[in-house]
Amino acid sequence: MENAIKVEHLSKEYPGFALRDLSFLVPRGSIVGLIGENGAGKTTTLHAILGLIRPEQGRIELLGRPYDPKNPAHRRRIGVVFDECGFPPHLTCAAVGRMMGLVYRELWDAGAFAEYCRRFALPQNKEIRDLSRGMKMKLSIAAALSHRPELLILDEPTGGLDPIVREEILDLFSEFIQDERNSILFSTHITTDLEKIADQIVFLHGGQLVFSQSKDDLIYRHAVARCTSAQFAGIAGGEYLRRRSLPGGGQELLIADRDAFARRHPQVVLDRAGIDEIMLFYVKGEEK
Ligand code: ATP
Repeated sequence: MENAIKVEHLSKEYPGFALRDLSFLVPRGSIVGLIGENGAGKTTTLHAILGLIRPEQGRIELLGRPYDPKNPAHRRRIGVVFDECGFPPHLTCAAVGRMMGLVYRELWDAGAFAEYCRRFALPQNKEIRDLSRGMKMKLSIAAALSHRPELLILDEPTGGLDPIVREEILDLFSEFIQDERNSILFSTHITTDLEKIADQIVFLHGGQLVFSQSKDDLIYRHAVARCTSAQFAGIAGGEYLRRRSLPGGGQELLIADRDAFARRHPQVVLDRAGIDEIMLFYVKGEEK
């Protein structure tokens, strides 16, 4: 399958932080969620992908070729939304539409923009500085979608938004992806959003890739085993990924292959592992 994004061996260093040798793919037609704790390197990764910062090492391809932000034809195929609304604050929504029309010319779909604004109940004549955070995000997404990109790259598009607005935005993402040429990469802390719509999860921790995996594999194959210390004594180190000690002396284990573990240890209680819980195990848990 062709890839919308190919990141190979990306490294970027800041004082006290390093993104190290990061490689992952965003297959065409998929929604990929980039997750990780505060400071894990998500925004740095998105900036490097878009050529906004210069990495020390790495190769990045967007839509089948090395990304050149100076090439308008290539740039226009990519819709970008960062968590700050990038439009001048004195503009109204209507003025944003006119400005985008001048920038994107024949690619700009004024009718689609008007329809998104109507659907999102965005007031046409209110200045951006007077819009709420959710409204600004909706405006940014409406503008990004209205130049008909094939790839959307978004930094925390649903952060700080109420569940109804989040749902509206996720619905829009699902509609966008109905065209199988289209793809989305977005960073988020809201793992329930990922559980709803992501196909793949890329998990960064401290600037390093922990995994890049299909969401279904992650959720349905992983499990959390809660065992007493006596049960734990019968479990080999290779049978779990991470562990956390429980206050009463027992252990919680993150298991990669739920069915195989259940066959070997039928007496141990196994629970479903959500994305949040899997992240917690990697960030706070011990290896063996
Ligand atoms: P959050 O979830 O809080 O948005 P993040 O995963 O997006 O975090 P980044 O914004 O990529 O994290 O930051 C990763 C690290 O890189 C942080 O330690 C940050 O201080 C550092 N960093 C980012 N940009 C710069 C910069 N321009 N100069 C120096 N350090 C930077």
